[in-house]
Amino acid sequence: MELSIKNLSKTYPNGVQALNNVSLTIPQGMFGLLGPNGAGKSTLMRTLATLQEADSGTVTLDGIDVLKDKQSVRERLGYLPQDFGLYPRINAETMLDHIAQMKGVGNKAERKELVASLLNRVNLYKHRKKGLGTYSGGMRQRFGIAQALVGNPSLIIVDEPTAGLDPSERNRFYNLLSELGENTIVILSTHIVEDVNTLCSNMAIICTGEVLMQGTPKEGLAQVNGKIYQKSIDKSELEHYREEYQVISTKLIAGKLSLRVESDTDPGNGFESTPADLEDVYFSFISKKVDPITI
Ligand code: ADP
Repeated sequence: MELSIKNLSKTYPNGVQALNNVSLTIPQGMFGLLGPNGAGKSTLMRTLATLQEADSGTVTLDGIDVLKDKQSVRERLGYLPQDFGLYPRINAETMLDHIAQMKGVGNKAERKELVASLLNRVNLYKHRKKGLGTYSGGMRQRFGIAQALVGNPSLIIVDEPTAGLDPSERNRFYNLLSELGENTIVILSTHIVEDVNTLCSNMAIICTGEVLMQGTPKEGLAQVNGKIYQKSIDKSELEHYREEYQVISTKLIAGKLSLRVESDTDPGNGFESTPADLEDVYFSFISKKVDPITI
């Protein structure tokens, strides 16, 4: 199974080009679509989920024309949008039963069994009678996965699912997502590098509507390995360093600024060579596209 996106472009009526000739090949398993806010991730996710039109390009899922044969895609799709409304007074069990009914899942007894198994899977069974409005952020996202799983989808799209979750909720959510990837394509759109690092066997980096990199995280790392240097400086020196070096990221550690720069040769001047991580890969690509101060 494979999702193939070719030359997809979209310009909104206000003139913003959200997708610029996007081509991606997405195999089975967990695929991370990484990019800063405004990169075009949601536009791409909504287009794949058949909720909005592209201007040009093609998308196929195992021979199905995703942009034209929307009904076939919807039958195979599970979608967790970035913001989804929940009826606050309806409980999880009733809501899932309703969604299963809409997706055409058999009779009442079959639905009851399905709903119970989904609620168990996302660890919400004991909260099934509580109104959705009482759920925490993590519980909402886990409910979102349960509703996306109704109908056994072969393509699951989750748009920025970990934004706003605290670290323990995020971990629990990672565990849940990591169980999904086996027989399906799961596309995880995120601006959080750790999400991709933890979960994804394949990835792409997009920015200003363009694909900057695609491959395995290991292939991404190979592109910057041996080129990352680090140094602690005073905050006041940052401007000077930005002028002299290709600064890809900065982090405040105990009041000092830890600077990471990319360079083909040893920059000297107190910089130390340091092993590259996936954040370096991300910032290396993004900083060449947009002003790093705005990332
Ligand atoms: P991301 O999900 O990566 O944050 P989006 O796809 O939401 O990116 O947005 C990409 C660009 O398109 C942004 O500049 C955003 O402001 C713009 N955009 C998104 N939706 C609309 C819309 N409905 N009308 C006009 N511009 C939009």
